[in-house]
Amino acid sequence: MTDFGMNVRGEFPIFSKRIDGNPLIYLDTAATAQKPSVVLKAMENFLRNENANIKRGMHPLAEHSTELYETARKSVQKFLHAKKSHEIIFTKNCTESINLIARAWGEKNLRKGDVVLLSLLEHHSNIVPWLQLKEKIGIDVEWIGIEDDGTLKLDDAKRIFEQGKVELLSVSCVSNVLGVRTAYEELTKLAHEHGALVLLDAAQLAPHAPIDVQTIDCDFLAFSGHKLYGPTGIGILYGKEELLDAMPPFLGGGTMIQEVFTDRFTPAHLPEKFEAGTPPIAEAVGLHAALDFIENIGWEKIQSHESSLIEAALEKLTKLEGSIILGPKDSKKIAGCISFVTPGVHPHDLTEYCGRKGVCLRAGHHCAQPLHNRLKHSATTRMSFGIYNTKEDIDRAYAIMKEALYFFTQG
Ligand code: PMP
Repeated sequence: MTDFGMNVRGEFPIFSKRIDGNPLIYLDTAATAQKPSVVLKAMENFLRNENANIKRGMHPLAEHSTELYETARKSVQKFLHAKKSHEIIFTKNCTESINLIARAWGEKNLRKGDVVLLSLLEHHSNIVPWLQLKEKIGIDVEWIGIEDDGTLKLDDAKRIFEQGKVELLSVSCVSNVLGVRTAYEELTKLAHEHGALVLLDAAQLAPHAPIDVQTIDCDFLAFSGHKLYGPTGIGILYGKEELLDAMPPFLGGGTMIQEVFTDRFTPAHLPEKFEAGTPPIAEAVGLHAALDFIENIGWEKIQSHESSLIEAALEKLTKLEGSIILGPKDSKKIAGCISFVTPGVHPHDLTEYCGRKGVCLRAGHHCAQPLHNRLKHSATTRMSFGIYNTKEDIDRAYAIMKEALYFFTQG
């Protein structure tokens, strides 16, 4: 495990950085992942040597940048096993992808009293757009509850589906707080049996496991490039062709039209219909490099490394005196992160202390306030993992956290 993490870490220039003389121990990948050299180089090369706006010019640079952008789309198609490349829409981030569905699909298809079914695990990105529709058109937002360890209560889902009003199930595949993997495949089947569509928030799944949208059979799926070792500023929306085709555009402007008159316009076909304005071109090039990077390592190695990191972290956090791990204690049920509380020491104090020693953790509600209310904690500390972490990172984080807890309670 250590060798794998150390070897991969060599690909990430940021790890040569020191914080106040301390090595950088980055355990905040769920917020954003660090970037390997191949991504940085691909973007730099594009901006230095190939930069041009896409689709609007006949000159060679414009033709080449258009080709790079469309090749990046194909790499995402392959990553998700989507049937067609125009089922992949580039957005700004996962949040924008979900908003696109809420606005373009939701406003067209939902009426007062229709239900959008979420889970208590959701990130605000998959809550607020639906609450906005509740305010705007009077839809109802209903919730799948959770067990104390974060497992979704499938009986809640069944009961709500049987009431016959659910038009859309929108749930995350992995919680960004508890790391718990949800039963998204089973829920997708259940939703379809009851005539509802399915949007999956894969922001925390995409960096940790392969995704096959055709096997899952979800209708829409969203994630961000930056959590997947790619750049910020690019998000993905996958949608089944017939659904995307039937939706009106979300944002208006250049590229998303066929024709514009003084009193009307006709929208472009997929995928341009949903890509108004200059898109994230250099970011698409960077994302393509990140997906190649992941493919070259291979999911088997990534998953076995990350699950041993989670096992090591569970073991250490269990030993951290006074700490309470929230979520499952079984590494097989977790991907990417673990959250915990240290009664008597606020997560902000703990993480600030650790940060000064080079150990980057995250504290707060992690954009999941309904989940925190359910867990009866206003804030938690989150440790999250990427392919570059090692068991030594976890040992060091444990030692510094121990020191911090001593400082705040006995010092
Ligand atoms: N959903 C989940 C589960 C997330 O963890 C995040 C990011 N923390 C998002 C959505 C939103 O991602 P972004 O901020 O990149 O739009």
